[in-house]
Amino acid sequence: MVITLRPDATPAQRNAVEARLRGLGFQVVEAPDSSPLVLAAVGDGTMPALADMKAMPGVADAQRIPSPFKLASRAFRSETTVIRLGDVEIGGPAVVLMAGPCTIESEEQLQRTAAAVRAAGARIMRGGAFKPRTSPYSFQGLGEEGLKLMRRAADAHGLFVISEIMEKSQIPLLDRYVDIFQVGARNMQNYPLLRELGSVERPVMVKRGLSATVDEWLTSAEYVMSGGNTQVMVCERGIRAYETYTRNTLDLNAVAVAKSLSHLPVIVDPSHAAGVRDKVPPLARAAVAAGADGLLIEVHYDPERAICDGQQSLYPEQFAELSGQIRVIAEAVGRTL
Ligand code: PEP
Ligand code: MN
Repeated sequence: MVITLRPDATPAQRNAVEARLRGLGFQVVEAPDSSPLVLAAVGDGTMPALADMKAMPGVADAQRIPSPFKLASRAFRSETTVIRLGDVEIGGPAVVLMAGPCTIESEEQLQRTAAAVRAAGARIMRGGAFKPRTSPYSFQGLGEEGLKLMRRAADAHGLFVISEIMEKSQIPLLDRYVDIFQVGARNMQNYPLLRELGSVERPVMVKRGLSATVDEWLTSAEYVMSGGNTQVMVCERGIRAYETYTRNTLDLNAVAVAKSLSHLPVIVDPSHAAGVRDKVPPLARAAVAAGADGLLIEVHYDPERAICDGQQSLYPEQFAELSGQIRVIAEAVGRTL
């Protein structure tokens, strides 16, 4: 349930509302920057009658939130959440580019790729140190050594870092090197991990599971938010469908739906959706036209020699060209780059 207080509600009236909801077994969460104040009653309490809540002094309105996610819903917070990293705003007017290799390989790879993506307008560098590989025999990532290399390359080029976390025991380690924790598609339902990320003081990006519905995806974001972390974004990366020309099927419906149901920034990863390099730019352009707040794109200075996902990684020149196109599309839909 969401309760909107009257602009002139007194602290005593607010306390009475909160006490009543807590007494019914709910946790009460205040919508950030809301004015007049909006409160959500979450958890598994006994739902009071709407009329009873509306009749309380100081209450302007009370509504049920029909979705399984509450804190992530637009009913709780109407304005899109803006996540700030230095001067970068995710969810603000500018579309944010996150780019870099699939996996961290070497200092040279990171330095060269970082220079290229920064020059083309990216503000956040991607790269995995812990890789969820389909085969146990595939390269699994460089671990901490890789994170150190990525931090160094990103710092040298004025970039922030996003990297994947696979299990909750890795939180303290990644926390030393990354600016954004990425939860991969395969871990979207790793609930202990999501819960634990609720108490980190860094943004978290939750990728959509291979076969997850929009409700399931946004409810995974809710897990993180339920622990008190408000800096959450979600990422559409293609879902399993029957088509085989591409690796997955980019679900732009989900972008439009998530943008309307949730205030969380929506990022699109066209690389893992397409699986082939030449399909990445058209999907990226379409994603921005559909309202994505940012793009997560695989770029490698030498994709032919990439250890992982080289076939879908853009050459730096392709990324630069795409960035120029994104700028035009962003402007056409009232955004900037
Ligand atoms: C990735 O971004 O490196 C990745 C593994 O993607 P996904 O979790 O979407 O498969
Ligand atoms: Mn990849």
